[in-house]
Amino acid sequence: MDYRVINVIEKTVWDLMAKVLEENHGICTCFKCRADIAAVALNSLKPRYVTSTKGEVLARADSLDQNTYIAVLVALAKAIEQVAPNPRHEAGLKP
Ligand SMILES: [Zn+2]
Repeated sequence: MDYRVINVIEKTVWDLMAKVLEENHGICTCFKCRADIAAVALNSLKPRYVTSTKGEVLARADSLDQNTYIAVLVALAKAIEQVAPNPRHEAGLKP
């Protein structure tokens, strides 16, 4: 069996960021900016590690409670406020 240690908060940050960026036009969505947003958001959130197989972690991430989702959304909003006005991408990366 292939076990691994995964931070389910990190998975949630990436999942919710995709939705947030879809709804907020004008924010650069290049990988550098998305990685910066994820890093800033994750630094302000308490990690939650689980030992899991690949399929199992998806089920666990889906069962995160509402407060955790809200905390991630708040962290993402703050991270976007910080990153979006000062993008660190190379000029050529911008889509
Ligand atoms: Zn960018």
